[in-house]
Amino acid sequence: MKARESIQKIWKDPVWSKVISVGIVAFTTFVYTLVSSLLNNISIGQSFKSLFDIKIRLSYIIGIWILYYLGVKLIATRHRDKYDERKRKALQEFNRMEDNALGMIFTWKVHFDEDTPFISDLTAFCTNHEGAPIRFMNEKCPVIGCKNNLEEDRFDLSRVKNYIESQLIERWNRMKMSEN
Ligand SMILES: [Zn+2]
Repeated sequence: MKARESIQKIWKDPVWSKVISVGIVAFTTFVYTLVSSLLNNISIGQSFKSLFDIKIRLSYIIGIWILYYLGVKLIATRHRDKYDERKRKALQEFNRMEDNALGMIFTWKVHFDEDTPFISDLTAFCTNHEGAPIRFMNEKCPVIGCKNNLEEDRFDLSRVKNYIESQLIERWNRMKMSEN
């Protein structure tokens, strides 16, 4: 690993970056006190005292700045979360597909794994009959004689699942692209 990379790695580490920050501040304070006591011909104690006064004023400014920064960040995050939530809900409305040629309806639920949509509870129904669509049993229509009942045409639900998830991923990517 190159020196630059390892420094970056340490700097990104939440604990190490804080330790180093404190180290830098402490070292800078020490050098500043030493130099200013020599330059102004005062004792190190007096020099520390004047530095302490400056530090209090500085910490007020920094404190206010941090509060402002956190406030802005919090508002931005909440705004983004709400926006994301709306988009996800919109995508989750794609939970049904009808194939009139086959006489089938598919229903499912949409979830997210981090940022990737996936589905569960994929269910097929046959619409080749009077009344309510009939739910498939063992990947086929349970009604004997129905064209969706044929053993060789048994439906491969994992393929349908993959097809639907591909559609969802495509839709989701388009939604994300249109926001920018
Ligand atoms: Zn049927």
